[in-house]
Amino acid sequence: MSETTFNIVVLGGDGIGPEVMDETVRLLSSLESHLDRVSFQFDEHDVGVGQYLKSGNALPDSAFAACRRCDAVLLGAMGLPNVRYPDGKEIAPQLDLREQLGLYGGVRPIQLFHENDTPLKGYGSGEIDFVLVRESTEGLFAGRESILDPDANEATNILKITREGAERVCRLAFELARERGKEKKVSLIDKANVLSSMVFFRKIFDEVAESFPDITADHVYVDATALFLVRNPQQFDVMVTENMFGDILSDLAAGLVGGMGMAPSGDIGADAAVFQPSHGSAPDIAGKGIANPIAMILSSAMMLDWLRHPQTIQAAKAIREGLTEVLSDPFSRTADMGGKMSTSEMAGAIEAAAVRILSSKQAVV
Ligand code: ATP
Repeated sequence: MSETTFNIVVLGGDGIGPEVMDETVRLLSSLESHLDRVSFQFDEHDVGVGQYLKSGNALPDSAFAACRRCDAVLLGAMGLPNVRYPDGKEIAPQLDLREQLGLYGGVRPIQLFHENDTPLKGYGSGEIDFVLVRESTEGLFAGRESILDPDANEATNILKITREGAERVCRLAFELARERGKEKKVSLIDKANVLSSMVFFRKIFDEVAESFPDITADHVYVDATALFLVRNPQQFDVMVTENMFGDILSDLAAGLVGGMGMAPSGDIGADAAVFQPSHGSAPDIAGKGIANPIAMILSSAMMLDWLRHPQTIQAAKAIREGLTEVLSDPFSRTADMGGKMSTSEMAGAIEAAAVRILSSKQAVV
């Protein structure tokens, strides 16, 4: 069999982005040496606020072109609250990337690894396990380019739902529920009792649901969802929602399993994908070596699954099993989760466990 090389663009970005990215690339390189005829070619680019201050462009054309041609993109975090465009908005090239690469589906798995990490009572490892799919190219974020007139007496943003946008993200959610094979349920999170855009979203969701007769489909209002997530997160398998609702609910959901440091994500398009933690650049802890690398590492495991090669899928499994093993010791935690481990100690522990698990599996094969 011939060698398969995956070309992976690496965008560390700003704040804690490069810190968690360096650890993740090191872990992937260690796993690579235990894979059979599969290799990774990492292609690093300097993007984000640092790049904006140097060149005036946070996402240079060469970086964007590399993202277009590669197999997958790993992104740390971009943006810093104190560096803004002249119109006052934060520098957020990750949003440009989403729009320009057509990354319509923000897939955010929420999984509890240890009972100590949830504020909810009575939930153990694996007992909180659902996926939130956030529409990522339109919704209320469609108005983000509008400029505020400083003399205005009112301001308006449009919530845009298109047939194409709604159809493709709903289909992605149903396919995911089928692939997960758990409860096989997709919940549309909407506000169809108030907004006509949401009535439209629901109509399209119902049409898509008809092509997935093996999957249960239901609708839950977004406000009720906030309550149900805290009361009974087990009622959800896959949920799909518009951009802003998804932005808010994914932070709430991350809080159920240990916080932003535990929440990975994949921004999926028809022919491109960017994998990044759900958290931002966390400037308050940047440069201290204490950021939790787990969200970034789990995002890289999502990438390995998405590459759909039996060897990379095996590596993704080893990462998750290695992480489960590390977190089974309640003292193995970074500061955000009440522990004392540094970024590199946590990543190193996961790396050692994942490499051991992968090499023992490869030996059996
Ligand atoms: P954005 O809007 O860009 O998503 P945000 O304003 O939601 O960013 P984050 O950068 O995600 O903010 O940080 C929110 C809080 O969570 C901060 O206090 C930060 O220190 C903490 N935090 C985020 N990610 C991590 C991490 N990986 N490890 C430890 N703490 C984190």
